[in-house]
Amino acid sequence: MIRIGQGYDVHRLKEGRELWLCGVKVPHTLGLDGHSDADVAVHALCDALLGALALGDIGRHFPDSDPAYRGIDSTLLLGHVCRLIRERGYEPVNVDVTIMAQRPKLAPHIPAMRRRLAETMGLAADRVSVKATTTEGLGFEGEERGISASAVALLESSRPCSTI
Ligand code: MG
Repeated sequence: MIRIGQGYDVHRLKEGRELWLCGVKVPHTLGLDGHSDADVAVHALCDALLGALALGDIGRHFPDSDPAYRGIDSTLLLGHVCRLIRERGYEPVNVDVTIMAQRPKLAPHIPAMRRRLAETMGLAADRVSVKATTTEGLGFEGEERGISASAVALLESSRPCSTI
């Protein structure tokens, strides 16, 4: 049994915030705004994993009205989502994340991002893909008003004839 999920998220860029992407702090003049650390890429990945098992979305599991999640490191949420999946008898096969950002240049940070996600998820790094693209100056990402991320996740049942 295999299951696939996809996730998408957007956060606004603003001054006076740190920029966290895939659990890595990226030096920049702007950061993403949000209740948590606003790691848009980790949020998209959490939604892809939850979506694969039709478990709702990150907002349902970690409501932004709950003060417990204020400023939280989003990789803690990702670790929790992976535990939920494994409790249900599934194991991530591979994940693929794309970050849409005009600036800063993310290529130098991709290896650290892959390592951080792989560690958090308990996966080999070659099962974790992170990519980044600009939007050629178009849209809110191109105008540097925000950053978006999308992700897909493939899961396989780790026990035969499992039902969720
Ligand atoms: Mg989010």
